[in-house]
Amino acid sequence: MIISSSKPFNEILSELENIDKIFVIGCNVCAAKLHVGGEPEVLDMCEKLKTAGKDVVGWVLPTAACSIRSYEALVEKGPDIQKADAILVMACGSGTSMVSRLVDVPVYPSNNTDSLGGRSADQVLPQLCEMCGACNIQKFGGICPKANCPKGLLNGPCGGSMSGKCEAAPEKDCAWELIYRQLEKIGRLELLEKIIEPRSYS
Ligand code: SF4
Ligand code: SF4
Repeated sequence: MIISSSKPFNEILSELENIDKIFVIGCNVCAAKLHVGGEPEVLDMCEKLKTAGKDVVGWVLPTAACSIRSYEALVEKGPDIQKADAILVMACGSGTSMVSRLVDVPVYPSNNTDSLGGRSADQVLPQLCEMCGACNIQKFGGICPKANCPKGLLNGPCGGSMSGKCEAAPEKDCAWELIYRQLEKIGRLELLEKIIEPRSYS
């Protein structure tokens, strides 16, 4: 899941300063689950824009903003998109980028894209993966130090953690403490004895 968060409305409005007719596109997957781009948020955004004096010509909620078949598919769902001077996308950067490629008017993001994470019950887990392109997360009990240790240490902790918290980001648990506990839980502590070679970027 891509973790995104809503930009302050005033920031969105100032970007749309000289634009009148706006069409809003949400996302019924990640953004909807995070309550930053599903139907209630899209309807709320339309109302706020109207209150701010904008002409909201319509909106659609594709299954996934990052996976839209074609411009024609958007028109089929929301024909009024053809009247828009600009599109506001309530999704991650990937969804906004995808929409930009399909339309011939300016596209604006209403969300900031924060990380690749997950969600379990009501808990949002940000920054689970840095998309390094060489996944070896099994060596760390499924907790990625590239994503979770600010120093990106692959061969054990820096030694600076205090009471289980990271010295570089005290609001976070030390990734290596979590890795140790997880490897202990699954009976794979021997993995800590293997040196992880630096990745070759050649
Ligand atoms: S090693 Fe970490 S950053 Fe790389 S793909 Fe796997 S989870 Fe993502
Ligand atoms: S305290 Fe832990 S998470 Fe923080 S930099 Fe050191 S090893 Fe990495």
